[in-house]
Amino acid sequence: MLLRAQAPIAGSPLEAAEVDAPIPEPGEVRVRVRCCATCRTDLHVIEGDLPPRRLPIVPGHQVVGTVEALGPDARRFTPGDRVGIAWLRSTCGTCAFCAAGRENLCERSAYTGWTADGGYAEYCCVPEAFAYAIPPGFDDAEAAPLLCAGIIGYRALRRSHVQPGGRLALYGFGSSAHITLQIARHWGCRVYVSTRDPAHQRLARDLGAAWAGGSTEPLPERVDGAIIFAPAGELVPPALRNLEKGGTLALAGIHMSDVPAMAYEPHLFWEKTLQSVTANTRTDGEALLAEAAAIPVKPRVTRYPLAEANRVLQALAGDRVTGTAVLMLG
Ligand SMILES: [Zn+2]
Ligand SMILES: [Zn+2]
Repeated sequence: MLLRAQAPIAGSPLEAAEVDAPIPEPGEVRVRVRCCATCRTDLHVIEGDLPPRRLPIVPGHQVVGTVEALGPDARRFTPGDRVGIAWLRSTCGTCAFCAAGRENLCERSAYTGWTADGGYAEYCCVPEAFAYAIPPGFDDAEAAPLLCAGIIGYRALRRSHVQPGGRLALYGFGSSAHITLQIARHWGCRVYVSTRDPAHQRLARDLGAAWAGGSTEPLPERVDGAIIFAPAGELVPPALRNLEKGGTLALAGIHMSDVPAMAYEPHLFWEKTLQSVTANTRTDGEALLAEAAAIPVKPRVTRYPLAEANRVLQALAGDRVTGTAVLMLG
């Protein structure tokens, strides 16, 4: 499914196209795609909230498949191995951020489905160093949302500094939040979920939220940490207000509408921290996959044929997806 020009998803801009199978570069593997989970970032790439890095482009960055061909010098995997491909596709390895173990801030990073073709296709290439071995406990569709929704939610959870047994608020309850909630519950946190959609509120309660309510309803109590998953800057001031003294609000999205002006005392004083989350390191990815397998996390997935990508992303844009929508190949 190819994007030739950025356009609103309502116009079904993804086009089923025949393209040559990609040839793996040195150090890369070619993966035969089994499925690719959808993500709000796909919408940002398609609709132009993110500037185009390459067009035409095959979107999709939560890919599960099997290694099918090895490029020159690729020796980490053998054909047939099941692997995952995530958003972070490569880093330079030499800039100050890479050298400091902060490769998520790399000056010359590349991204699956944005700077290089992604997983809405039969084949996808990835540098072997940025592929993940998928733990055996997950089927393909369940594993796919772990690769961005899971990893970013996990990084956001850690950036929120909520401690085991602490109080956590989640704003917006899509693919990432429904995985993050399961991890936080495993940590013994009391979790409050703020989302306007009744089906999302129901899923949150099913997964162990102590409270789930509308985005304008007050939380039952102040929280130690909070994460905003919705791309809505207007949620920032009330979320900061709902923090306990010393609490941290993490912003999990790659794109957000403008944050309104805030007053100092109720929103930021009392040593409250406002913290964005930028992509992830491979260490985050490995840690999330290991912890998700140990808990085990159970992503709630709905499977669709790849050809329905436009319709599925329209549903995602309209907040009509509960859990994660996964596009299946074959
Ligand atoms: Zn770098
Ligand atoms: Zn994503």
